[in-house]
Amino acid sequence: MTHRVTELASSVVWFRRDLRLHDHPALTEAVRSGAAVAPLFVIDPALLRGRFASTNRTWFLLGAVRALSDSLAARGSHLFVRIGRPTEVVPAFARDVGAGSVLVSREIGPFGRRRDRAVADSLERIGVGFRAMRGVLVHEPEEVVTGDGLGYRVFTPFLRRWEALPIRAILPAPDPIISIEAAGGRRAVDDAVPSAADLGVGGPTAHDRHLPEPGEQAARRRLAAWLESGPTRGPSAYAVTRDELADGGTSRLGPDLRLGHLSPVEVATRALAVDGGGPGSRRFVSELAWRDFYAHILWRDPRIAHEAFQRRYVGVEWPGGTDTDPSSGASDHIVAWREGQTGYPVIDAAMRQLAASGFMPNRARMVVASFLTKDLLVDWRVGEAHFMAHLLDGDPASNLGGWQWAASVGTDAQPYFRVFNPINQAERFDPDGRYVRRWVPELARVPTARIQAPWTMTIDEQIASGCRIGSDYPAPIVDHAEARRRAIAWHGSVRDATAESEP
Ligand code: FAD
Repeated sequence: MTHRVTELASSVVWFRRDLRLHDHPALTEAVRSGAAVAPLFVIDPALLRGRFASTNRTWFLLGAVRALSDSLAARGSHLFVRIGRPTEVVPAFARDVGAGSVLVSREIGPFGRRRDRAVADSLERIGVGFRAMRGVLVHEPEEVVTGDGLGYRVFTPFLRRWEALPIRAILPAPDPIISIEAAGGRRAVDDAVPSAADLGVGGPTAHDRHLPEPGEQAARRRLAAWLESGPTRGPSAYAVTRDELADGGTSRLGPDLRLGHLSPVEVATRALAVDGGGPGSRRFVSELAWRDFYAHILWRDPRIAHEAFQRRYVGVEWPGGTDTDPSSGASDHIVAWREGQTGYPVIDAAMRQLAASGFMPNRARMVVASFLTKDLLVDWRVGEAHFMAHLLDGDPASNLGGWQWAASVGTDAQPYFRVFNPINQAERFDPDGRYVRRWVPELARVPTARIQAPWTMTIDEQIASGCRIGSDYPAPIVDHAEARRRAIAWHGSVRDATAESEP
């Protein structure tokens, strides 16, 4: 049973995907008001099992909440943890602590916006205010608009406008944070952060050794390491290193941005300071603009959470299958793709890396997404769901954006007649085959000249490398040249059929 813990008007800061103390506008505002602050985290069981659930991300999230709780305790505060539906839990909590307002970092996805509207309505009925502040993006959707006040559908002009906007100053982590106990209240219940097992959720599917340490402090160390990695790695070299598959020439900060361990404003500002806004850091920061771009697109057009941005693809039947339920008889092609058994080494390496680590480099994401949606002509939502189940940085807006781009059904998408060639891509971005050898051990001894197309090995080469095609490693499940022609023809027919209905 909960009971009223303080008579003082306090504010609740309800943390969601902003699990940090640094550069947190809502927290800063609550502390600045001088009132006691009641930090709250709500575990919503619906999200642990919903369409976008992932045991990898749940593990990372629970670790991050524990870390946030420790950081708040170190500043004299206390994180309250509740389990339940936010529409019930948040107003009840606000009433218990005698809060005058609830502050949050603004959500942009359809689920979060619906939930926040419902919570704000319930709070209003009991006389408690609700304020949604910035904190998740660099620039808000209303800020990056054309002269006519419209949102952009094409990235390049969006970026031009985005870059022209001033980035707000980074806010320091408030210290101390006056807790409701210090202001005269008492703790009502135990606020230990539950484990995944307590919540009836399995552990991460990725191997421990690949998982980053959760929490803001660990994320700040990762950011510092990335910023300080010198002229040949890190932001200043990003434009050159970003597509390397084996060596990981990117920041790997995706999960930290996803859960808000790091604010994108801080990441952008500090990255630009590394080389004074040179081409490397600008290129890196332009990726944060892509993150904003896809969030803005989803905010403007929530429909794309479940269907293609291009209306001509809404309701079309994908020849390769539309099954998104992993347990219900997926086609052999879909299973081979998910399990990294397609016979194309770079595809298989990337899919196995995803399963083992919860990460895949951007270049590989583009190549495997093109393969699924073009070579296999499978509905992009099959891939989108699989990525969401595994990616530690799985984010509805960016993932939808990436999948719809690759499938040529999104806004500013890859032209439909561009089909990534998995062999050329691999030879370009994994020239010595190290990426493939790391994740597909059965190809470890295949000569470099054959590694990206092992079916071209002679029988003698197969024996010498200990890799017989068809038994140790699969033959390609489709012929790329043929699959490419089929994909272009299919897209052409969808476009011909709908030419008149498209704007
Ligand atoms: P870096 O290259 O170091 O970039 C820094 C940050 O910028 C990233 O952490 C991310 O927050 C942002 N970013 C970079 N590229 C993009 C992009 N193309 N679109 C949006 N934001 C970007 N990104 C996600 O954060 N979550 C996803 O679920 C996701 N799904 C994707 C699915 C597909 C099919 C594709 C093609 C891309 C997807 N991306 C997604 C974008 C991109 O691949 C990842 O953000 C990036 O690989 C993460 O690695 P990093 O942190 O080292 O990124």
